Amino acid sequence: MEQYFKIISDVTKKSTENDFMFVFFNGNILVKIEENSIKIPLLKELKPLNIKYEEQFFIGEIVENGCFATETHSEIETSEGFELMSLRDFANTVNECLFSAAGRANQILHWNRTNKFCGKCGGNTVTKEDEIAKVCQKCNHVMYPVICPAIIVAVMKGEQILLAHNSNFKNNMYSLIAGFVEAGEDLESAVKREVLEEVGINIKNIRYHNSSPWPFPNSLMLGFIAEYESGEIKVDGKEILYADWFEKDSLPNLPEKFSLARRIIDGVI
Ligand SMILES: [Zn+2]
Repeated sequence: MEQYFKIISDVTKKSTENDFMFVFFNGNILVKIEENSIKIPLLKELKPLNIKYEEQFFIGEIVENGCFATETHSEIETSEGFELMSLRDFANTVNECLFSAAGRANQILHWNRTNKFCGKCGGNTVTKEDEIAKVCQKCNHVMYPVICPAIIVAVMKGEQILLAHNSNFKNNMYSLIAGFVEAGEDLESAVKREVLEEVGINIKNIRYHNSSPWPFPNSLMLGFIAEYESGEIKVDGKEILYADWFEKDSLPNLPEKFSLARRIIDGVI
């Protein structure tokens, strides 16, 4: 059976030596290389590295092993067999189970790092003892990890798929139309609005496809499929530089395999 990462929120749990440690330094994750494969180290395997850990968060389990997220602010002396790698490189190398756990670790640590002070009164916050939340010591305001919903949509015109090149994309890559959901907006309206704003196309028959957390740093991607209704492609020239209809045998460079965009594209064309 394939391993999977089970999310558990239990802030009372303390790490033991057989738990997996997702340790981040400067945005990179510490991994152990064993027989040419990339692993997450157990706490006991990290002893020789003498890492000065910051706060630890229990994030869930892989089989019987607990998973903890933590970071360090001092340089790690990576001895033989250890390496620091970017979360994107990690995602491209490991299975879905490890990427989900590392993604959750990254989201929790990002939230921890950016909520040291109260957004309401500026007071110092502390981590709550009974849930993953921060509480202000001055005014008791409570802050939970924030997740930003974003939509992504495959617009189909018969056998053709609409793909666009965003000004941030490297390697002349093309992907699906995507964007954040506005405050007060429902998902279908966000899908329609993004497609119209970015490429000037009206769409119909919007259907939910699937979703995926996107921990760069704290999004949840909601995937949709829709059909072309009317309009000619017209890009804004700022965010989207080019867009076009593509067929299966003439696809451009596509996003990395672990991305929801790629999984939707591979599923519909
Ligand atoms: Zn406060």
